[in-house]
Amino acid sequence: MKPIASKKILLRRLGGLYARMDAAYAEAAARLGLDCSGCATNCCGGFFQHHTYIEWLYLAQGLAELPDDQRARFLAKAAANVEQAKAMTAQGLLPEIMCPLNEDGRCALYGHRLMICRLHGVPNILRSPRGVREFRGCHRARVRVSAGAPEQAMDRTPLYRDLAALEMALLGAKARSLPRVDLTIAEMLNHGPPAL
Ligand code: SF4
Repeated sequence: MKPIASKKILLRRLGGLYARMDAAYAEAAARLGLDCSGCATNCCGGFFQHHTYIEWLYLAQGLAELPDDQRARFLAKAAANVEQAKAMTAQGLLPEIMCPLNEDGRCALYGHRLMICRLHGVPNILRSPRGVREFRGCHRARVRVSAGAPEQAMDRTPLYRDLAALEMALLGAKARSLPRVDLTIAEMLNHGPPAL
C-alpha cells in the first residue's frame, strides 16, 4: 500500500489539475458566451458515470470534511438514488436522477466535484490513438452556436492525460488487478471510499 503522504500529494495535485480544468472551461464558455444561470436544465440530473479511483477518493475526502448531519443526509439520498436507478434500469429506462449532492440547484461539494461535472457543457474534443471524439456541448451551448457564437471546441486531451497519469501514480501495480470504475456519484457515495 502507498504511504498516506504520497496519497495526499497526489490528491493535492488533482486539486491543481481541477483548477486548470475550471480555467479551461471558463475560457471556452466565455468564448461561446455560455452562462448557466437561469438554465431550465440542471446537468446534475443527467446520467453520468465516472471512471477513476483518484477522483472517487477526492470526492470521499470532501464528504468526510462535511458536518456529520449533512454527510448522513447525502448518504441517505445516495442510497435512495441507487435503489431508484436499479428500478429504472430494470424497466429499460436511463436512470436520469438528480445527483444526491445537489441541493437547491447547487453542488454541495463544488470544490470536490469530478472532471465530468467540470467540463460538461462546452463543445470539446478528446484525441486518442483511435481518433478524435467530439462532444457537442449542452443544449444551451448548441443554441449559442446556432446564434452565431464561434464553435471552437475545447481540447480536453491534455487534461485527461494528466488525470490518467495521476490515476496510475495512485494505483501503481494495482492498476492491473483492480476492477474498472464505472460509477455514478450516488454509487460512489453509497459504496464509501475506494479500498486502495
Ligand atoms: S457532484 Fe456536484 S456538480 Fe457533480 S453532478 Fe453531483 S451535484 Fe452536480
